[in-house]
Amino acid sequence: MTIEQPTPIRGARTRTTRTPTKPHGQWAVDGREPLNANEEFKLADDGLNVRERIETIYAKGGFASIDPTDLHGRFRWWGLYTQRKPGIDGGRTAQLEPHELEDEYFMLRVRIDGGQLTTQQLRVIGEISTEFARDSADLTDRQNVQLHWVQVEDVPEIWRRLEEVGLSTTEACGDVPRVILGSPVAGIAADEIIDPTPQIQEIADRFIGDATLANLPRKFKTAITGHPSQDVVHEINDCAFVAVEHPELGIGYDLWVGGALSVVPRLGERLGVFVAPDRVAEVWHGVTRIFRDYGYRRLRNKARLKFLLADWGVERFREVLETEYLDSPLPDGPAAPKPTSLGDHVGVHAQKDGRFFVGAAPLVGRVSGSTLTALADLAEVHGSQRVRTTPHQKLIVLDVPEPEVENLIAGLDAIGLSARPSLFRRGTIACTGIEYCKLAIVETKANAAEAITQLEQRLGELEPEIGRPITLHVNGCPNSCARIQIADIGLKGQLVSIDGEQVPGYQVHLGGGLANVDREEAGLGRTVRGLKVAADGIADYAERVIRRYLADRELDE
Ligand code: SF4
Repeated sequence: MTIEQPTPIRGARTRTTRTPTKPHGQWAVDGREPLNANEEFKLADDGLNVRERIETIYAKGGFASIDPTDLHGRFRWWGLYTQRKPGIDGGRTAQLEPHELEDEYFMLRVRIDGGQLTTQQLRVIGEISTEFARDSADLTDRQNVQLHWVQVEDVPEIWRRLEEVGLSTTEACGDVPRVILGSPVAGIAADEIIDPTPQIQEIADRFIGDATLANLPRKFKTAITGHPSQDVVHEINDCAFVAVEHPELGIGYDLWVGGALSVVPRLGERLGVFVAPDRVAEVWHGVTRIFRDYGYRRLRNKARLKFLLADWGVERFREVLETEYLDSPLPDGPAAPKPTSLGDHVGVHAQKDGRFFVGAAPLVGRVSGSTLTALADLAEVHGSQRVRTTPHQKLIVLDVPEPEVENLIAGLDAIGLSARPSLFRRGTIACTGIEYCKLAIVETKANAAEAITQLEQRLGELEPEIGRPITLHVNGCPNSCARIQIADIGLKGQLVSIDGEQVPGYQVHLGGGLANVDREEAGLGRTVRGLKVAADGIADYAERVIRRYLADRELDE
């Protein structure tokens, strides 16, 4: 395994980040002695090296031939997780050992940096799904597509087909730089400030699959947008670039670091610097190496970049970045103004070239391989060869000539994708949940889909009064894959006590949101103590909240 040596520490201040008694496991401070089992297996062999064993041993020998450390550790570096065995209820999740929850099938995550797909690539994903994944496909809120029911025997052929069209599963999971979120309307929107595609591409080309960045303390999430709607949830990424105009230096990016949700949510912070487009990859590399070298590795629940930033503060983070990792300091830079429109891109919008893009909502991100293949065909019939995924579990068809727009929308409806969805369908996302996830306590997608149907029936006529999507985010456990803390109504899956009995349900978070056209800045939702909702009670609860909101809101709310 090749691992780049950490940059030498030049400032005494940098050395004082840990308590004297308990090392945090920072490579640059404490050395590389592994302090937990995860760090041990990562140091023993690079996660990326498992690919060769999958191709030469495991795909031939089947599930039983897989080394447990590879199965539960390194497989993630190639986008593979074992999925949950069907029929185990959520009440038993915490009681069983991980291997007892695990099926012999895999979730396979296809990495789509910037969410950019050709119709040919989309068709290949759809066909892989129908052939090898029981027609399963979910759009994630990080612009990936996840397939389920994949067998290890088929993985080499799946990789071959993906790579033939320029797609991959490289570092789609694991303690690595994950997929780079990019504005889904990069390069096309009429009101775009800058097209971030070259920056996304440069980072992906130079650094994804780079062994020197393949052993980070935990996952590392990136987002880049050049659109004024700030459409990449930048406040909850480890490293994010948001387009901004500098009064003297022109168009570039405002750098944010240290955002992440999960059990201990923290919004990212601006470093107050201006990053010229041609320095984005260098700055990203610097931030990522700070995380690699100084990130905490002793406790996994303290290993995300947000904990280092919380201890260092932005001033010190900037100083270390500039003095130890960059060729030259960065100029001070302004903050980007508040977003000017909703960033989910649902509906029909003008492109800069006179054509249109059409954003459509599936139900809670759930599609299928057949749907993706049908979408590729449909887009081509109507003159498009490009599709984008979004960080809101939506899809966008690009380059549609005006006369084709309505026909395309009718075709989308016919395959379950709505370009004019209700506000409830538009605002609701759900994580994988108990159907496939080994950590889940509660079902998510089916419950959220049922809630949407109910809310459409009960509150449909109030939509003009409501006026904007009510964000309803449904999680199957206390992690935050569906971003519960930044929703109007966030539901966290857990066991709840109803009539004295412990049953799967949700803890309620209220009032969260990222900066958007209606909201000056991001804020985390508040946990409403004692307020729990039964798994089948989402619609009842959401209806009460929405009716109360309509009755009591202030004029500018
Ligand atoms: Fe699984 Fe929990 Fe993430 Fe949902 S939030 S996908 S249940 S880990």
